[in-house]
Amino acid sequence: MLKDLFRKQKKYATIPTEHAKKDIPEGIMQKCPRCGTILITKELEKNLKVCKSCQYHFSMSAPDRIQSTVDEGRFFEYDADLISMDPLNFPNYVDKVKLDIEKTQMNEAVMTGEGTIGGYPAVIGVMDSRFRMGSMGSVVGEKIARAAIRATKKKYPFILFSASGGARMQEGVLSLMQMAKTSAALERMHREKVLFVSVLTNPTTGGVSASFSSLGDINIAEPQALIGFAGRRVIEQTVRQKLPEDFQTAEFLLKHGQLDEVVSRGEMREMLTRILDLHSGGRESHE
Ligand SMILES: [Zn+2]
Repeated sequence: MLKDLFRKQKKYATIPTEHAKKDIPEGIMQKCPRCGTILITKELEKNLKVCKSCQYHFSMSAPDRIQSTVDEGRFFEYDADLISMDPLNFPNYVDKVKLDIEKTQMNEAVMTGEGTIGGYPAVIGVMDSRFRMGSMGSVVGEKIARAAIRATKKKYPFILFSASGGARMQEGVLSLMQMAKTSAALERMHREKVLFVSVLTNPTTGGVSASFSSLGDINIAEPQALIGFAGRRVIEQTVRQKLPEDFQTAEFLLKHGQLDEVVSRGEMREMLTRILDLHSGGRESHE
């Protein structure tokens, strides 16, 4: 089979047409959107979905993220059965949610639960951009607020991975209210002196960047992640200035004091373990 693949490529080797460029067998290989390297899917997955040539971080599903972060067999999911209503009777909303449930095998754009990382217990939330672009509707907000409340009660640190296009337009003002709800739950956590670590991944924008994902006691991001509230074009039109090339990247925000660290995916688990260790108050890890 491998031989066939090479033969096929050779045929188009001189001047690949647009069609041929896209004609990479889905599933076996993937093309890095940044550097164009053809990557073998299995190897890409082994490398936590990071391009070996340019370190581009592909988006990661919530189950994959949990698997690569939490100690094996140590994750207990919360509120998996919560499903969005359609409060505004928004055209096609119910069908779109249904399709995303089938596609992702998740009921909403965030997965929450508790587990251990490097032996340290933590409440964990992971957003999934495959589900309605990770947008925040009332269920996403509710699950994050409930996770924060549980973390507060149990005195477990809360680690939340964001990946979101912002508030979910199909739920209108109810989506925007989730900004206040999640922020209030995190404020209670803060008053009880329970640690909140926000991990911003590509992309974290709109109402999510403007609420919980920016409220970490520690805010870290993956390299090159797009993080911002409004889009570049909107801001450029408003301020009538050209914005710098690296505007709204993790590295830009780190340089300007809005992030504590940029951590590559391969080092994320170790970094989180170190943070949990530092905040464990001298308690021994469970491993
Ligand atoms: Zn690449």
